[in-house]
Amino acid sequence: MASQDMFKRSSFNLFRGRRFEAVDWYWSPEDNFKHRRHALDTRLQYGSLKYDRELFISIICNEYALRVSAQRIEMLQKEIKALEKLTNIEVDQIQFAQLNTGLEEVQKKHSLQKHQLYISESMIPERPLKQNYDSLRRNPDWYMRHELIQDCKDRGGCCSRGCGCCAQRYLTSEKMNGIGHCTWDCWCCLQYRGFDLSAEEKEKAEKELGENLRSWNPAYLLKMTDGFFTKPGRWNISWIR
Ligand SMILES: [Zn+2]
Ligand SMILES: [Zn+2]
Ligand SMILES: [Zn+2]
Repeated sequence: MASQDMFKRSSFNLFRGRRFEAVDWYWSPEDNFKHRRHALDTRLQYGSLKYDRELFISIICNEYALRVSAQRIEMLQKEIKALEKLTNIEVDQIQFAQLNTGLEEVQKKHSLQKHQLYISESMIPERPLKQNYDSLRRNPDWYMRHELIQDCKDRGGCCSRGCGCCAQRYLTSEKMNGIGHCTWDCWCCLQYRGFDLSAEEKEKAEKELGENLRSWNPAYLLKMTDGFFTKPGRWNISWIR
């Protein structure tokens, strides 16, 4: 009990030092901790306004899904180009057709995801949150923020190596949708790893993102909301206290 209390207090101090702050239930006494978890207030505070955390989570998850399909499209286009070069002599029509069908499917999915992100974004109240959200994204490499770079490093993405893919991605990608850090479908990461994941494994990874953000432990949600929504010098988002 004593060590758990100590952990909670030190977590409190850790989160207090960040732009986002922790919710009080996190360091509440153990005897009512379970009760408080069930009665958890899932809102976040930004200035004097309160928003349900789902507003933020839906944007983070939809943005991730859009990045996955953007990187998948890039990967398939590279594979098609490589195959075109190889098949000057003997064309492997079946593989070529499979890749093109796959590309069309992902492109369609990408369009639907763009719309889904638009729906989530349109739920953000205009002032001041949406204004700051849009203003942050006027910079094409807005995602090169230390919280998101660290997350990419922790996942073993390109930011953990010297290739510079993430920093260059907004310059090299044809479209401006789904530009950001690596997912399982990053071409460079695939070359480095040497193997691809199955569709089920990728789906599981996507599901885990949502689970981490909705965890009773706010650490990951706080890191991501810092990276996605806060503007230096503006208000911070915090848990309701
Ligand atoms: Zn990568
Ligand atoms: Zn790379
Ligand atoms: Zn990265």
